[in-house]
Amino acid sequence: MTVPETAAEIARAVNERELSAAAIAAEFEARIHLREAAVGAFLTQTGALALAHAERVDARVRAGEELPLAGVPLAIKDNMCLTGTRTTCGSKILENWTAPYTATAVQRLLDAGALPVGKTNLDEFAMGSSCENSALGTTRNPWDRERVPGGSSGGSVAAVAAGEAVLALGSDTGGSIREPAAFCGVVGFKPTYGRVSRYGLIAFASSLDQIGPVARTVQDAARCYDVMAGHDPLDATSLARPVAATHNGLRDDLRGVRIGLVNEFTLSALGADVRATYERAYADLEGLGADLVDVSLPTADYGVATYYLIAPAECSSNLARFDGMRYGLRVPGADVAETYERTRAAGFGDEVKRRILIGTHALSSGYYDAYYVRAQKARTLIAADFATAFQRCDAIAAPAAASEAFRFAAKSDPYSMYLMDYYTIPMSLAGLPALSVPCGFVTPPDGAHPLPLGLQLTTPLFEERTLLGIAHAYERATMHASVRPPIAANETARV
Ligand code: GLN
Repeated sequence: MTVPETAAEIARAVNERELSAAAIAAEFEARIHLREAAVGAFLTQTGALALAHAERVDARVRAGEELPLAGVPLAIKDNMCLTGTRTTCGSKILENWTAPYTATAVQRLLDAGALPVGKTNLDEFAMGSSCENSALGTTRNPWDRERVPGGSSGGSVAAVAAGEAVLALGSDTGGSIREPAAFCGVVGFKPTYGRVSRYGLIAFASSLDQIGPVARTVQDAARCYDVMAGHDPLDATSLARPVAATHNGLRDDLRGVRIGLVNEFTLSALGADVRATYERAYADLEGLGADLVDVSLPTADYGVATYYLIAPAECSSNLARFDGMRYGLRVPGADVAETYERTRAAGFGDEVKRRILIGTHALSSGYYDAYYVRAQKARTLIAADFATAFQRCDAIAAPAAASEAFRFAAKSDPYSMYLMDYYTIPMSLAGLPALSVPCGFVTPPDGAHPLPLGLQLTTPLFEERTLLGIAHAYERATMHASVRPPIAANETARV
């Protein structure tokens, strides 16, 4: 029997004892072994741990339990803790650090029957949009190995796209789940800020960071979200509101749904094929019964500037803990100050240093009001613009990224990299739930392979069910998500 492609089908088969979780763990270990040299999604493989979990899952199923993620292979971004496993954040400063506890989101998935197959590559401390800022490895886009997978959750999306995992966890601060999901042709979902506990997620910008699922289908992303979401007393910003289950009964059409298109997000800056793909996606939404309405987000254009003050400010404070005293790398100096200096100089890469400098500057006396406080005011205005727009629509549709996946080293200045998140940052600043769902392919003039694009959808705070329902209807009608990259096209291995 072959291993089914989705978490829903795998869990059903394991719960009904048609397949054992142990056989699935063995199959994925073999698959990862075969494909990793081409993809490079993982920083640490945990096949033995997956097998140990699988044996426990099989025992629980035999004892009569039904588990929502029974036997589902799960990849975990390497900024989330998993007890006893190396957790590096893609940084030299944590290269040899072993997590002493497990993140709440990860624990909930493991308790629900998921199998941890490995920890995935990322831009160092989740700062970047291509995975090129990782100090510890190179991840390639499974659709075209000359290209980046996107970032920062590049390893997680590449693992799912290449069939090395069925579900993965990413984290999204300004677009780090949605942009790479678009680049690799998978579903990437960032829930409302506070829906999923951040306990055990190594902090980048705490007021923005959110864990979310990466999956092949919207329904699988919903299933994963349902298991993870909900209050956690260990995270002070986790929401106490009840979470409505999303994965059952997702809608199949969009009749009566009003979808906003943002006036300020003109598509004219995009490549002609990219633009045509988005125009077709909007037309498909209409074809499914949605009413398309124009909405305005007048301050969204300030999103990137606002984000690149707030996120570095928070990062400069969060990363102060990496000083050679308690965690990870320590490069001794003559005194404490020199130890700090040497450790941080050797441990952090250029982009992380740049952000620490920008953030420290923005928070320093004399500049705080001019930069940090103004950025906070702009953030409030951006959130207010969304609230106004949502009076006219149920969801907003937009591109998930400003282009298809680009070649390695194509973005040589930081600013052009920052602009990749032009369409995702405003939603992050407003704390909104948002996702990317595959919406077609383009073959760029400088490329030989078709590359996927992602449609971004976003709804008001807490409207995850509406969001996932719209995405599910679109996915079912268009089938873009069912196309696999060449490396994963032949999933016929037998167990
Ligand atoms: N690319 C953005 C950045 O570099 C977003 C990263 C993220 O969401 N973690 O900060």
